[in-house]
Amino acid sequence: MLNDTIAAIITALGPAGVGIIRISGSEALEIGDRVYKGKKSLQEVLTHSVNYGHVYDYKNKEVIDEALFLVMHGPHTFTGEDVVEIQCHGGYVVVQKVLELVLRNGARLAEPGEFSKRAFLNGKLDLSQAEAIMDIVNAKTDQSLKVAINQHQGKLSKTINKLRHNLLELLAYIEADIDFPDDDIERLTNEEIKERILSLRERVSTILATAKRGKIIREGLNVVIIGKPNVGKSSLLNALLKENRAIVTDIPGTTRDAIEEFINLGGVPIKIIDTAGIRDTEDLVEKIGVEKAKEFINKADLVLFVLDILTGVTEADRNILNNYLKDVPTIVLVNKSDLKDSNFDIESIKVAIGDDKAILQISALESEGIDELEKQILELFFSGQIDTSNDELITNVRHVQALTSALDYLESALNSLNLYLPSDFLAIDLKAAWESLGKITGETVEEDLLDQIFSQFCLGK
Ligand code: GDP
Repeated sequence: MLNDTIAAIITALGPAGVGIIRISGSEALEIGDRVYKGKKSLQEVLTHSVNYGHVYDYKNKEVIDEALFLVMHGPHTFTGEDVVEIQCHGGYVVVQKVLELVLRNGARLAEPGEFSKRAFLNGKLDLSQAEAIMDIVNAKTDQSLKVAINQHQGKLSKTINKLRHNLLELLAYIEADIDFPDDDIERLTNEEIKERILSLRERVSTILATAKRGKIIREGLNVVIIGKPNVGKSSLLNALLKENRAIVTDIPGTTRDAIEEFINLGGVPIKIIDTAGIRDTEDLVEKIGVEKAKEFINKADLVLFVLDILTGVTEADRNILNNYLKDVPTIVLVNKSDLKDSNFDIESIKVAIGDDKAILQISALESEGIDELEKQILELFFSGQIDTSNDELITNVRHVQALTSALDYLESALNSLNLYLPSDFLAIDLKAAWESLGKITGETVEEDLLDQIFSQFCLGK
């Protein structure tokens, strides 16, 4: 039911100065009053006012906490509904107690994403903007944040809406032609229609082409470090951690022990896939077996393959290079370059590796060559530097699917045109492309898909 009043804790649980409980819905003010002890009824105070008082359990005559009550009347609120936010003290127990009291007094516990869903259904933001909220919350670097903020501000929506508008315009011409074939109305020639579809196709392709970079900026780059024992894998990890700010995040939906460590490499979140316990003993393949090793490598966007400059490329290295790393983006790191002696021969290493992999000399111990490695990684995935000023960076798999399907329909429309099929065929495809694009902004999304999207949000969002 959309109109019942919901509540949830909207701040992170844990010891903190402040914790916030949000109540949203038609009865927010009444329910707020049932737990509020202060000067004036919350139903009488001005909208968007801050009201000092106590969270009070009237049944048990007990003060729960001292708090500020923010009263905000719809529609000028996040959800578009009447909202009361209770700012009490932070901490595991107190916010839970306040929430329980609110629930006992008539609110229902909000489902994950339900505040955002209501904001969407009440027209406060479109679907891609709502999705960007989670991206803002989960952003791991300045760059990821920038992309998410752009999306939240509606830059992607604007692009998509413009494309849809152009499609609709074209459809109007074609349908007028179908409906009033004999009337003297303005028409487009086949050539003009084709030009317009080609231009739309071009624009959709351009946006789609950003998806790979977008995904990396949003989710990070999975990097696996591989190499024989003692070549310096742990030292490399330490050097990377030392030079780059590490970000530790919880993986949503899991317990605290599943944490990911991200390194911020020039704005790209880099996730070193943890091969803990393997690093220090034997090499990845020997220790965990062929299948498991393949799994690790398959998950990797990039493999850092470490060699020791003194031992060069051994038979085991060759085996891994030829059998596992053939089709995976790999940078070969010739480590311990501080020890290189006169016998050292980079050319023979290059011959053994082949031309398709980048080779770099580093000293993990002395942090030499780490900057160059950083540069090469950015070069490999972003052709140099990341440009997030592009407003049309696609970061979301769902958006990629919608754009791909729109592209297919445009392709099919072009085919119909080339085959001189009746205009109805053209109209059907263009309409379908228009609908596909509408899934991004949420205008043409079915109810169950909406539920699915919002249920991926965290509690209190
Ligand atoms: P792993 O088994 O591949 O993780 O290798 P480690 O990082 O544990 O390093 C093995 C040994 O090589 C340690 O004694 C390191 O101090 C040393 N080592 C690692 N990198 C370098 C380097 O760049 N130069 C020198 N001289 N020694 C290094």
